Amino acid sequence: MSDCIFCSIINGDIPGAKVFENEHVLAFLDISQVTKGHTLVIPKAHKENIYELTPEIAKNLFEAVPEIAKAIKEEFNPIGLNILNNNGEAAGQSVFHYHMHLIPRHGDGDGFG
Ligand code: 5GP
Ligand code: ZN
Repeated sequence: MSDCIFCSIINGDIPGAKVFENEHVLAFLDISQVTKGHTLVIPKAHKENIYELTPEIAKNLFEAVPEIAKAIKEEFNPIGLNILNNNGEAAGQSVFHYHMHLIPRHGDGDGFG
């Protein structure tokens, strides 16, 4: 999708700080990290939200998540990790290419929640 910012990151048209990549999935640091190491995980296929994910795309995506979580743990040494996903404007979605937020937690005062 040409006017999608996350598709542009996948294509390399705009930069992204890559955390993980395979054939189906890309993970990169959020441009505006709510905590240190805040990472977004996206399918390479442009799908707007959870309702558009096929079982195959969801399988590929979720299969990669433990490895990405472990990479974040090694790099940022958090004491906890939140995973969340906003679907629809009313739920806080602002980029309409499906993504999961992996939010490392660093204890009191880490700025989130
Ligand atoms: P949403 O609000 O849709 O759940 O989350 C969208 C996220 O994408 C936000 O946390 C926002 O900071 C992040 N974001 C928006 N534009 C860019 C960008 O160009 N690069 C990166 N790395 N993150 C972005
Ligand atoms: Zn896209």
